[in-house]
Amino acid sequence: MADFKVTQIDENVDFDSLPWWDVVIIGAGPAGLAASLTTAHRALTTLVIEAKDSAGGQPQFLYADKKIVDVPGFPDGVTGHELSERTFRQAVEAQVQFRFNEELKAIENTDQVVDGDSLKQVVTSNGSYLCRKVILACGLLHYPRRHSVLDALNSDAVHYRSPRVADYEGSTVIVVGGGDSALDAAVMALQRGARVEVIVRKVTSGKADTLNLIRELGGVIRTSTEITQATLKDGVISAVLSDGTTIDCEHAVVQIGFLSAKETFEGLGLKLNDEGAVAIDPYFETSRHGIFAVGDVHGDIKLIAVAWAEGIQAAIHAFHEITSPYWLNEKRLHDNKLTLIAERLSQAAVQKRE
Ligand SMILES: Cc1cc2nc3c(=O)[nH]c(=O)nc-3n(C[C@H](O)[C@H](O)[C@H](O)COP(=O)(O)OP(=O)(O)OC[C@H]3O[C@@H](n4cnc5c(N)ncnc54)[C@H](O)[C@@H]3O)c2cc1C
Repeated sequence: MADFKVTQIDENVDFDSLPWWDVVIIGAGPAGLAASLTTAHRALTTLVIEAKDSAGGQPQFLYADKKIVDVPGFPDGVTGHELSERTFRQAVEAQVQFRFNEELKAIENTDQVVDGDSLKQVVTSNGSYLCRKVILACGLLHYPRRHSVLDALNSDAVHYRSPRVADYEGSTVIVVGGGDSALDAAVMALQRGARVEVIVRKVTSGKADTLNLIRELGGVIRTSTEITQATLKDGVISAVLSDGTTIDCEHAVVQIGFLSAKETFEGLGLKLNDEGAVAIDPYFETSRHGIFAVGDVHGDIKLIAVAWAEGIQAAIHAFHEITSPYWLNEKRLHDNKLTLIAERLSQAAVQKRE
């Protein structure tokens, strides 16, 4: 099915007075941005709700400075920040509308019907929006686990993602955590001229290569220890470890995992799969009709290109459902019929051989 014609939304649409949106997308990460571009390029009014203050999702918030080298089309790599910025700009130019600092709370069914489609009410922390289709693209890993001792300092020098600090030269950085993200953060700081101490509560679980690189670059890795006390004076954090050592540092990067965003979608009455993620059918539709889920929120393969591809597919399915209600049901019946025919043919072939 060729489906690449781009139809722009009319420039004069007054988005503030729309009675309903065609599509509301939750999350402005790779999946949500790709989905939004796709629906807007099919002239559907599209609103993206994003909990954070800007777009991009994980590439922007977790690894803005990392060179991403596995995204097709960027042979020299592209940073998380640049990729996010480019995709966001493309969405804005396609007239996608954004609401930042706004978090999804609920999706309610309504009695209102438009062209055979029951409208849904998307309730957020700031308001509510009627729409025909919802695409959930809220990822899984949004909330970094906090470190209670460092948190109590209430300081900008405590970071929960690799900070976009232009120059660590000459400063000491404590990295808390022993997984891949923590070790990557340590390498990044070392390569920028920092002295780095990695504090690991038990043992490291990150890649052995990265561990070796940290040692080669002069980083110190302290295992079986944790920060039990910390004070802040004149921009310097003094961290006391459980083995009695005190380390003074200018930055503390905490990478001790993420709290699942599961609670966000558990309250939506959606069926979950065995892993506790949102269950979807082959068309990215959840157990609630008209609500799709794409990207990390359900996916096994957690990659930007996969999030893009899923966002685009769900957006096209939503488009077909809007322009031709029950399109998906017909497609399901048709695809089931094809599967049945294929099964019958293979059974007949087996019988013939016997
Ligand atoms: C350290 C690290 C390095 C990585 N490196 C690579 C790489 O090199 N190449 C690659 O292809 N992939 C990489 N990935 C994976 C990739 O970043 C993810 O697969 C991708 O970001 C998933 O996109 P998404 O849109 O599904 O989710 P996300 O990027 O998580 O975006 C979801 C968005 O939804 C928002 N949101 C969440 N809940 C709500 C709510 N209730 N209301 C409103 N908004 C909400 C979030 O704030 C977020 O902006 C990496 C991941 C990590 C953690």
